[in-house]
Amino acid sequence: MSFTIDVEDIRTSSEQQYRVRLNVDRVLAWLHEREVIGTAFVVGKLAESDPSLVRAIVDAGHEVGLHSWSHTAIEKHTPSDFGQDIKKGRELLQDISQQPIRGFRAPFMSLTTSTPWAPDQIAGAGFTYSSSVLPASSPLFGLPGAPKTPFLWESGLLELPCPVTRIGPLTIPFLGGTYIRLLPRAVTIGALRRQDQDSVMWTYCHPWDFDTEERFRQYPETGFVTSLLCFRGRRRMFPQLGAIIHDLECSSLSDIATSLLTPGTAKLDVFSIPARNAA
Ligand SMILES: [Zn+2]
Repeated sequence: MSFTIDVEDIRTSSEQQYRVRLNVDRVLAWLHEREVIGTAFVVGKLAESDPSLVRAIVDAGHEVGLHSWSHTAIEKHTPSDFGQDIKKGRELLQDISQQPIRGFRAPFMSLTTSTPWAPDQIAGAGFTYSSSVLPASSPLFGLPGAPKTPFLWESGLLELPCPVTRIGPLTIPFLGGTYIRLLPRAVTIGALRRQDQDSVMWTYCHPWDFDTEERFRQYPETGFVTSLLCFRGRRRMFPQLGAIIHDLECSSLSDIATSLLTPGTAKLDVFSIPARNAA
């Protein structure tokens, strides 16, 4: 099990208060109490504007990875500007943290059939592993048919796909912040117990998932329902997370990647995105 958080700023205007640091500090204190080491994927632009945020995460003993330069879906980029952006982000995080940056996570799990070039760009920028694939159909982004257990891209980049479970007709990323806040605890714990033992379980929370003081507002780029889903159940976030990681051994994704990549430890299949319009 790994606790991971995607550190991004969802302010859409300068009048809105900067609340990322407040909530990240809250999460760091909570992890410290439980002696849990996790991974924080930080947006490059945010790290550039607040380097002390990255230092606080590293000083608390956690791994830092890159969550893109500007939190834009991969398909909005050309291959070369995507590659340049994430290389710049990786170098910035390395400068601030004085640590090698090994992990990349795409915004919105947006590594899909639209961007078959992305794994090569991620490997080319120097990353060891990615956690950018939702191996299911999704109204937003998804890569149905991708393995649900760790696999290698042809470049040798390790992919740790987003954990999913079936609930009725739906396959959902049940360890995302919204699902953790809103699903009954028994459903989440039951789904965890049913997972394939070769799967790697990781949460993906966001600073706002923990923001119990923020008043409800509709985000301009999303509809009312999505805004409400980002808001409901925030008081349940820490108790739910506590129940999820209770008694489980937690490691950073970098440590999990190292053990999976140790020869003889795991069988990792090579997967490539099927060509579009293939017969
Ligand atoms: Zn994100």
